[in-house]
Amino acid sequence: MGDTPPQFTFEPNANAVSAAERAGLIADPGFGRVFTDHMAVVRYSDAKGWYDARITARAPLQMDPASSVLHYAQEIFEGLKAYRLPDGGAQLFRPEANARRFRHSARRLAMPEMPESLFIESIERLVEADRAWIPQADGAALYLRPFMIASEVFLGVKPSSDYLYMVIASAVGAYFKGGAKAISLWATPTYSRAGPGGTGDAKCGGNYASSLIAQAEATRNGCDQVVFLDTKEHRWVEELGGMNIFFVFEDGSLLTPPLGGTILPGITRDSLVALARAEGLTVREELYGIDQWRADAESGRLRECFACGTAAVVTPIGQLKGPDFGFVIGNGGPGMVTGKLHDALVSIQRGTAPDPHGWSRRLF
Ligand SMILES: *Cc1c(COP(=O)(O)O)cnc(C)c1O
Repeated sequence: MGDTPPQFTFEPNANAVSAAERAGLIADPGFGRVFTDHMAVVRYSDAKGWYDARITARAPLQMDPASSVLHYAQEIFEGLKAYRLPDGGAQLFRPEANARRFRHSARRLAMPEMPESLFIESIERLVEADRAWIPQADGAALYLRPFMIASEVFLGVKPSSDYLYMVIASAVGAYFKGGAKAISLWATPTYSRAGPGGTGDAKCGGNYASSLIAQAEATRNGCDQVVFLDTKEHRWVEELGGMNIFFVFEDGSLLTPPLGGTILPGITRDSLVALARAEGLTVREELYGIDQWRADAESGRLRECFACGTAAVVTPIGQLKGPDFGFVIGNGGPGMVTGKLHDALVSIQRGTAPDPHGWSRRLF
């Protein structure tokens, strides 16, 4: 079973959006609301392995209400972008890293591990079919959302025997409107994102479901995003709800919390570590306490702070607030090192600078 990967069939959307309407939609798409004409689908069953690979018209799903994902949240996802190149072509950024992480997430959620070549092919085929949807504007891209859900019709608690894998695509603009404006963070005293042995290093919807109330707490306290501390001592900085975090010190060195099971291993995080080191900067992957964060911000030793992820790229952090404190980082606005790392990353992703790390995968 499933030894030979399935061949994709292509069923073009007979009701594809007109070129004029599409141009209007992708001119100012926002984030995650404008979807393309097609989607990729691959099915899996214990008996057949991977089968029924298709690029087909994007359409609502029909699901049995007893499908196990609806009850026990056996679900994982990925996020990556196709970037329009100056010559009109397009490329992906490190898709094999997403493929590897998708397998890792699958393992943690007791799901089948999709072959990396099949994962990448599903994305390439979809982008090929919807190539006209890749926006050109600065900061815009075609966001790709591969995901897999447990589709067995069964209320018993066990790993599903059937799965549905899909990729949908969405034309997106800059994630945070207003570009490089610094955001404020709320250090939640109430909630945790991930504990040792949990699912913190798997990209699963459940992690997001449990973070929403903390994000709502942040919003209520006038902050843009929540930052989570470790569960045990409630002291060590981990990450945001969907972004990793970096600190920049007065000597020009950087620090980011170490991966260790409770932090999602971001591909943007990994790329920025490599880019900073290639620039000759020191990057430490070390624990950083919230007490130290405050002391360093107040003494001026901490100059900049930023969050990073595929969706929002590199986003400066200007302030941290908690229940009984609040402080500004640096001048409260976007810092120089943050800006340089942002530009270095984006210029590789968009093909306007050489790619010495071999991260780009040209599509057409
Ligand atoms: C996806 C994600 C990130 C960022 O990962 P990238 O690969 O850089 O997009 C960071 N934290 C969490 C919790 C995530 O889900």
